Amino acid sequence: MISIKSEREIELLEHAGHIVYLTHCYLKPYIKAGITTKELDKLAHDFIISQGATPSFLGYDGFPASICTSINEEVVHGIPSNRKLKNGDIISLDIGACYKGYHGDSAWTYAVGEVDKSLKYLMEHTEKSLFVGLKEIKPGNHIGDIGAAILEYAEAHKLGVVKELVGHGVGTDVHEEPDVPNYGVRGTGPLLKEGMVIAVEPMLTLGSPDIVILDDGWTIETEDYQASAHYEHTVVVTSDGVKILTGGKNG
Ligand code: MG
Ligand code: MG
Repeated sequence: MISIKSEREIELLEHAGHIVYLTHCYLKPYIKAGITTKELDKLAHDFIISQGATPSFLGYDGFPASICTSINEEVVHGIPSNRKLKNGDIISLDIGACYKGYHGDSAWTYAVGEVDKSLKYLMEHTEKSLFVGLKEIKPGNHIGDIGAAILEYAEAHKLGVVKELVGHGVGTDVHEEPDVPNYGVRGTGPLLKEGMVIAVEPMLTLGSPDIVILDDGWTIETEDYQASAHYEHTVVVTSDGVKILTGGKNG
């Protein structure tokens, strides 16, 4: 069942979302050559705790860290390790925080130093595809409208859309119904209603969108080793559109 959140629940989800936003802001200056993803994980963990929240992903299905750190060809669910970031890498940080039982979930891809033109293009248009999807959200539209818009945008920019991984509802569970795919047919799928809270999260690739899962049981990367980017916001459907809960003032 897709739940409709009460005003009080939306306030708590907004608070959780704001902590996720602040965690991204806090980590950004540390994303430099030489830092390990484990160090980023520790910084994120301690910051989330300092905000009176807990990291949503720590222990989720046995995930061994507080955030997901996915570098270059890694799409999602990269496990923080002793790997050091290098200039020219891109890294996707997927961060979840739970505040008083309610979650926020947001991913962003960052450049490490100066990156290749093609990576800048991938990042720019994956981020834009997220906002193209969010534009479709208002009561009366369908989940399929979001994915259709993201897919059309990605295809127009010659980028691949990972189809096996999807967005989701967010509430007292970090992953709730409905699925929010990054592809779809307009006018199909669950109807969007005021008070629904969902995470929209396009994962786009420079090459083929085919993915493989590594032996660690978590890390998902592109089959052709070409780069992937990931942008995600948790949002609430409002009476006339959408409000981003993980975006801060600048969206
Ligand atoms: Mg996420
Ligand atoms: Mg998510």
